[in-house]
Order: sequence, then structure tokens, then C-alpha cells
Amino acid sequence: MPELTDMQYIRTLAKRHNFSFSKGLGQNFLIDPEVCPAIAEYGIPSRECGVLEIGTGFGVLTQQLAMRSEQVVAVELDRRLQPVLGETLADFDNISVVWQDIMKVDPAEFLKEHFGAREVAVCANLPYYITSPILMHLLESGARFRSITVMVQKETAERLCAEIGSRQAGAVTAAVRLRGDAEQLFGVPRDAFYPAPKVDSAVIRITPYDTPLCTPEQLHRVLKIVKAGFAQRRKTAANALASGLGLSREQVTDALAECGQDANVRFEQLDQETLLRLADALKQ
Ligand code: SAM
Repeated sequence: MPELTDMQYIRTLAKRHNFSFSKGLGQNFLIDPEVCPAIAEYGIPSRECGVLEIGTGFGVLTQQLAMRSEQVVAVELDRRLQPVLGETLADFDNISVVWQDIMKVDPAEFLKEHFGAREVAVCANLPYYITSPILMHLLESGARFRSITVMVQKETAERLCAEIGSRQAGAVTAAVRLRGDAEQLFGVPRDAFYPAPKVDSAVIRITPYDTPLCTPEQLHRVLKIVKAGFAQRRKTAANALASGLGLSREQVTDALAECGQDANVRFEQLDQETLLRLADALKQ
């Protein structure tokens, strides 16, 4: 199997295929030999579970995934990688690569078409320019994933895994946390990549709840509130929500009071349970 963590081999491979790394596509490939096996170990619960990878690069993680799962399907946007993968993934017959933009894929349809009834986990070293949109795309699609184990920028990892109601939380925190558990698994320094990015990274795992916390309709309402609230997070919740949702201040303070909250509470202080109750209170 080609040694994709050997810098000499990577340089020769890139040269042979006349491949130049695209910053715009977030092409920072993993070269630390311990990281990809760890992502695969954390991300794949059993051999029977299929894996969806987003962004193959030269295939360094794809190889590790294919050693632990019966079926790996990878979505990669950059077709220039086709001849490279023809070489690096030649030893495997359980990998297929779909040349597409993940944002243009309908995840639920994609799972049905490629995996049938098989359970599927997502494992990826995500392109940084589009991390949160990809996660939202997967979570909002209605597709059922066993888990989503991904490398993201360290600051993004902290935000995604923060508790709702803490200082680090943002709209994206709530969007993730209302759908599943999110945990930081381990940090990865910038020199584990080639070319090295300017920031450190971390691997996180999101495990969607078996039983959703709320109905899709409730979720839609909470997310609207969350978006309005975090857009003006330093304001009081009453002011932020009144202006963000086009309601009177009185309507919002009444709803906050129903949830046992003072009118002067800041939006970022509201925890998950309060947000769910507030969504119901504001509905009336
Ligand atoms: N998995 C490889 C690794 O760990 O070395 C590559 C990871 S690299 C950070 C991100 C990969 O995602 C690149 O190969 C890039 O071409 C691909 N990519 C970027 N945007 C994409 C998109 N919208 N859809 C699918 N793949 C994309």
C-alpha cells in the first residue's frame, strides 16, 4: 500500500501527476501516521457500518477507512485527483469515489443510492473553508447517520462542542446540539498536515440522538430564535429577539417570564431546555 505519510513519496506522487495543492479547496493533507488510524478507529463502530468520506485528497484517510469498513464511498470535488487515487487506492475493492461537490449532493438520496439499508457513519478531514456549511447540510438533510467524526479547526471544534448557554456557544452550537451529542476527541497540531495550515485542528464526533429532542417544526422555530438571538448576543435576550424576530419587547419579556427568565438575561446565557420552552412560549 502506498505510504501516504511519507513526505518523499507525497512529493514524488504530486510531481508525477503534476498536482498542485489548491488553497481554495482547503487541500491540507494529513501526513502524521497516527492521525488517520485514530479517526477511523473512533469513527467506525463496526465493519458492517458503511463510511461516507468527504474529500479524499490523496487517499490517506480513505485507506484507513477501507481497512476497517466493508464499504467506503468518498465524495471529492477535485477531479485532478482521479489519476492519483487510481494509484493510491488500487489495493482496495471496497472504495468508490463520486466526483461531486458535497453541497450539491442530497445526503438522504445519496445514502439510499449508494448504501441501501446499510448503516452509515461520516468520517472526514473537512475542507476548512466550508466546515460548518457541510455539517449543517448533513444534519439538516433528514439523512440518518450513525455518527459524524470530522477534523475541523480547533476554534470551530470548541464552538461546535460547547454547551448551549456557555460563552463559547454560537448559533452553530445550538444547531448541532439540538440534534445530537458533540464531543472533542483529540487535538491535531498544524504540522500534522502538508501543506501546513496557519491554525491547529481537532477531531470531533457528533452522534445524532436516536430519539429527536423535538419535532422538526419545533426545531425550525428554535433555530430561528437562536439565529436572531446570537446575531446580537451581547444585547439582552428581550431586545435581541424583539428586533430579530419583529416582535414587541413585551411579547418577548412575557415569553421569557413564562420560562422563568428575567427580562435582562443575555441570550447566550439561555440553556437548551429554556430555548425549547421559549420556542413554545413565543409560538403563542
Ligand atoms: N482526506 C484528505 C486528507 O486527510 O489528507 C484530504 C483532506 S483536505 C483537508 C479536504 C479535501 O476536500 C480536499 O481533497 C478537497 O479537494 C476536498 N473538497 C473541497 N471542497 C469540497 C467539496 N465541496 N465537496 C467535496 N470535496 C471537497
